[in-house]
Amino acid sequence: MIGSYVPRPEWLMLDWHHACLEADMVTIQRCASCATWRHPPRRFCAACRSRESAFVPVSGAGTVRSYAVSHRSMDPGWHEATPYATLVVALDEQVSLLAATTSTPNDLALGMPVQCSIERRSDDFVLVWAEPSDETPDIRPAASGR
Ligand SMILES: [Zn+2]
Repeated sequence: MIGSYVPRPEWLMLDWHHACLEADMVTIQRCASCATWRHPPRRFCAACRSRESAFVPVSGAGTVRSYAVSHRSMDPGWHEATPYATLVVALDEQVSLLAATTSTPNDLALGMPVQCSIERRSDDFVLVWAEPSDETPDIRPAASGR
């Protein structure tokens, strides 16, 4: 993906990219009043209408909520990667995050556990990557002793 187009985010999205760069990990905006997570970033909290918020580093753990497969790319920098998938990741914080992946589309499944990380693309832009994680969601009932 050398030479691929690097977007120039603005306003609150630029703030989010800068927060991720500063933390060197995925951050998500969180209401300072009621602690509700929100992404993409917004000026007001939808839950309590507070204007106070902060970008908080998160683990980046989540699951594949959805994905789209690109068989062609308008960006020459992505030609060699086709066909590639763009993921909608449901983070553990219950917000969705768009992410690239090196996984081939045939290896993806909805609900698959993934781990997100960031790649610095410029002083103003991070690309989020999501790769399958070994961690399987624990949906079993709690063990009743050992
Ligand atoms: Zn709130």
